[in-house]
Amino acid sequence: MLDADFFRRWMTTAAASVDREADRLTALDSAIGDADHGSNLQRGFRAVTAALEKEAPDTPGAVLTLAGRQLISTVGGASGPLYGTLLRRTGKALGDAAEVGGEQLAEALRAGVDGVMKLGGAAPGDKTMIDALVPAVEALGSGFAAARAAAEEGAVATTPLQARKGRASYLGERSIGHQDPGATSSALLIAALADTAEADGE
Ligand code: ADP
Ligand code: MG
Repeated sequence: MLDADFFRRWMTTAAASVDREADRLTALDSAIGDADHGSNLQRGFRAVTAALEKEAPDTPGAVLTLAGRQLISTVGGASGPLYGTLLRRTGKALGDAAEVGGEQLAEALRAGVDGVMKLGGAAPGDKTMIDALVPAVEALGSGFAAARAAAEEGAVATTPLQARKGRASYLGERSIGHQDPGATSSALLIAALADTAEADGE
């Protein structure tokens, strides 16, 4: 079972990974966007870490809703409200249980990803974070490692696509041939989840 501490460690692991990969995320965004994705998420996840230290929420749902609120209020750009919605919806779906199982988490994440699709209007194949998140949620039933691999594959598979949502869509065909920054950061978020689970022997 996964408790509030597990979810806190997922968020701090994600924050560390965003710190490490910020330059790469920004480089990807400089090719098909405005070169701010790494710094946007770095600012957001630093605020998440600080808020979790200060408030120490005691359920999985409360950890994720607090993290989502921080992302919405600090990230700016398209990705802030989208990632914020992902975590808030997922947290809301977990309710106020003190511990949740893998299946419950998979179901809640599906609700979170549905929320992102509703808010942003993107579908799979539009070259967005959805292209990593949807396969990850589908694979989560087979375990955390399967979800990590599916998210990474989904992110890589955005390269030949033409963007149909977000800033990159303004480039039309010129968006082809570049990996999507948001799909790449989504793969980092899922990898952080798998790392946290593996560190626990889940
Ligand atoms: P901005 O585009 O406002 O500068 P960021 O650079 O932080 O915001 O994030 C860009 C990423 O956001 C894209 O790579 C894409 O994955 C994601 N994104 C943009 N618009 C949408 C959307 N409508 N639905 C889902 N994801 C989106
Ligand atoms: Mg950007």
